[in-house]
Amino acid sequence: GAKARGKNRCEIFDEALRERSIDRIAITAALRQGLRDDRFVLHYQPVVDVITGAPVAVESLVRLNDPKRGMLAPGEFIQVAEDSGLIVPIGTSVLGQACRQLAAWRASGEVEPGMRTAVNLSARQATRRDLVDVVTAALAESGLEPSALALELTETAIMEADAATLRQLEEIRDMGVRLGIDDFGTGYSSLSYLKRLPVSFVKVDRSFVAGLVNDPSDREIVTAVIRLGQALGLTTIAEGVEEPAQFALLRDLGCDQAQGYLLGRPQAEPPARLQPTAR
Ligand code: C2E
Ligand code: MG
Ligand code: MG
Ligand code: MG
Repeated sequence: GAKARGKNRCEIFDEALRERSIDRIAITAALRQGLRDDRFVLHYQPVVDVITGAPVAVESLVRLNDPKRGMLAPGEFIQVAEDSGLIVPIGTSVLGQACRQLAAWRASGEVEPGMRTAVNLSARQATRRDLVDVVTAALAESGLEPSALALELTETAIMEADAATLRQLEEIRDMGVRLGIDDFGTGYSSLSYLKRLPVSFVKVDRSFVAGLVNDPSDREIVTAVIRLGQALGLTTIAEGVEEPAQFALLRDLGCDQAQGYLLGRPQAEPPARLQPTAR
């Protein structure tokens, strides 16, 4: 009867919950081990200038090279890392690696001297009082100039920022590090934040880019974000560009930079140089 079915459902639910918490425990352990054994690696996705097609930056994206599970994408562990606070030491490691790798590629001539690296910063890192020191140390250790580094924050991270965190971000911006808003349009930030914040770029979320060619409302949103960026003097970067038609439309709309599988997947190697004929 209904009661028996209800009980069964309940058992199924408990079972799913139990598996999920075991998962979280296992992932937390894997993260700790990954930190201990230096198993966080970065893959680098090119960000290209929409007009020239030349790579101007890479976005440094973390993976966990787990001995049992293989290469884990951030979707499989970032939430657990944030909830457990492990994102703080992981983030510090990512920042150091991203800066060191860019400096090494510049030194060996594998990338243009002006190439930048972008690193994702979680809210937990942004609110830490040692953020300025952590960023300063990564730059000093690698020898990169501050403008070679870009930090991507989500709208939620920015919205949660208190006065002390905002002052800290301003200090980092004043050093010359570029700050920007990631996944723009998916969070709850109001447009007034754009004025309040020390940001120099916005990244149009890939969910809007996905509908850019065929969905009129997505096209309106992308158009509006690009215009807003232009009006405020911000660099606009479209993410998730997968099709030539999207890329062409972004160029027509005046978007500055683009990133996506069409232009290059995240990879361990530096972005491919332009063919001489393409210049
Ligand atoms: P994100 O910062 O928005 O990074 C872009 C994500 O979109 C990356 O996934 C990238 O591989 C993927 N992507 C790029 N181009 C395309 C495309 O054309 N199509 C599709 N479908 N996807 C594309 P990834 O590497 O799995 O990272 C996912 C998210 O994890 C990132 O989103 C970022 O929020 C977070 N994350 C990655 N690395 C770090 C990190 O070091 N620290 C923190 N706090 N978060 C990170
Ligand atoms: Mg990002
Ligand atoms: Mg993004
Ligand atoms: Mg995104």
